[in-house]
Parts: sequence; structure tokens; C-alpha cells
Amino acid sequence: MKKLGAIEAGGTKFVCGIGTEDGQILERASFPTETPEITMKNVVSFFEGKGIEALGVGSFGPIDPIPGSPTYGYITTTPKPHWGQYNIIGHLKQHFDVPMSFDTDVNGAALGEYTWGAAKGLDSCLYITVGTGIGAGAVVDGKMLHGLSHPEMGHILVRRHLDDTFEGFCPYHGDCLEGMAAGPALEKRWQVKGSELTPDHPAWEMEAYYLAQALMSYVLILSPQKIIMGGGVMKQEQLFPLIREKLQQLLNGYVQHPSLQENLDQYIVSPGLGDNAGLSGAIALAKLALEGEAGADVV
Ligand code: ADP
Ligand code: ZN
Repeated sequence: MKKLGAIEAGGTKFVCGIGTEDGQILERASFPTETPEITMKNVVSFFEGKGIEALGVGSFGPIDPIPGSPTYGYITTTPKPHWGQYNIIGHLKQHFDVPMSFDTDVNGAALGEYTWGAAKGLDSCLYITVGTGIGAGAVVDGKMLHGLSHPEMGHILVRRHLDDTFEGFCPYHGDCLEGMAAGPALEKRWQVKGSELTPDHPAWEMEAYYLAQALMSYVLILSPQKIIMGGGVMKQEQLFPLIREKLQQLLNGYVQHPSLQENLDQYIVSPGLGDNAGLSGAIALAKLALEGEAGADVV
């Protein structure tokens, strides 16, 4: 059985793992995100001597996932101190001479769900995380969605809720989706952590109002066959029925498909891979690298 290396590079912690081509996770370890020097030393030590045959990296962004670009493999314009313009794949290549695949954490998670999780057997899916930030990735016909770079679906504009006076916390756009609906927006608006708001608090109706608008845009623009919602905030299970109901109201019957009408419960779902969605996604990226599939962005 071939061993695949996987890195879920997050702004708070790096989760490293060894997995197999059928998606099993054999081993894992987690390191805090400090400076690249400190964190990458831990990461490299974890993989050394383990005999990995490919490596997949799903990373916080913005990143450059476009092979051939001068900054391919870099974490690029992140405001996170020390990590701006950091060549993460270049550093890993110095230590491991194996095929690698590099993408956003959410594109990786979408690929993991497509390969082994909630979207298994489908042609396309979208994965959105609602956590410290909001990001979404998509897989279409087995390939992660790219363009100039990667999509930034967390920063789309949303219509303000009539009862909402919160200005939004996105440093770039103020009241974009992330500014209004990521975990820190809940905490800043209601002065209490999202996890401490009761399930019947009005915060959730407002939260669902923003997330349903985002999903409407994703449905209209990408028409994904499944939408998977993960991240800390989506641990609030009561959000799912609220989001489904509001999405239907917003679409108002314009897009006619059973997935958007009677089967909505199976259309908007939690990750099939649960809390492993990120790490499994990185294993799926490594599998692509190993297979060297066309469009796998292998270097
Ligand atoms: P990250 O986005 O940093 O990878 P998470 O997906 O765990 O990590 O998201 C963290 C954010 O989610 C924080 O803003 C936190 O307050 C919020 N959060 C975590 N758990 C819950 C919960 N059970 N209910 C509501 N919000 C939560
Ligand atoms: Zn923004």
C-alpha cells in the first residue's frame, strides 16, 4: 500500500497526516502555525523517514495554485505575519523528491468529499467552510476550479439583513459575506462567542440569511450537484434547515431541479468525511499527484 503525505495548512495549525490511496488516515500530528521556520521544521520532521510517495497540500490563502506561474507553490498575499510570499512547495521540494499537488484548503476539501465523501459518485460539488473566515472550493468533472488563480467565494457581496447594524469585519470589504457571517462576525455582533449562542437565538436566522444568499449565488453561477458546508460555525445544526428554507425562498422556484425542491435535505449537507474533510482533502490531492492525472497541477 502506497503512503501518501498530506498537509492541511491552516492559519492556526498545520495538520499533517499519512494516508492511503483509498482515503484511510494512518497517522496524524498537529503543529501550531508559528513562523514558517518553526512550523515547517516540525512538518518536515514528521514526514522524514516515513517513505511517502506523494504529497498533497491544502492551504490557507491566498495562494498561487497555477503551475507554470512564477509564484506557483507560494502562499502569496496573506496578511498573516511571516507567511506572505512564502514558497511552501519549494521548501517541501528541498526535503522530499516526490510528486506534489497544491491547492486551497477548500478546493482540497471539495476534492476529498468528491472522492470519498458526500459527493462521491457525482460529477461536481462545492465545499464551503464557515469558520474564522469563509472560503469555498469547487470540483467540476474531477478538477478543482481555477482561473486567474483560485476562486475567493467567501468575499462576495451580500444584501444586509434589515435588523443588522454590524459594520462587518473584513479588512478589505467590510460587509462582504466573510465580514458579516464568519465566526468572528457572530462574536463581534452579539458580544458572545458563536458556540455560546442558544439554538433559538435570532443570530441564527440572520446567519442563515447571509449564508443562503451565498449559496444562491453559487447555485446560479456554478450549478454544483452538491453543496457541503463545514467549519466551526456549521456545528450549529439548526442552521441547516434555516439555510435550506431561505435558499428556496430566494431562488423562488427559478431553478427547477429535484435537488433544489424535494431533495434539498440531501443537497445541502455536512461533510461526509466529518472533521477529517481537510486532511482527507490533502490526501486526495496527494493521490492526484501520484496518479499524475492531467490537470492535477502536479509538480
Ligand atoms: P478555522 O476556520 O480557524 O480553521 P474553525 O472552522 O473551527 O477553524 O472555525 C473557528 C470559528 O468558528 C471561530 O470563530 C469560532 O468561534 C467558531 N465556532 C467554533 N465552534 C463553533 C460552534 N460550535 N458554534 C458556533 N461557532 C463556532
Ligand atoms: Zn471581504
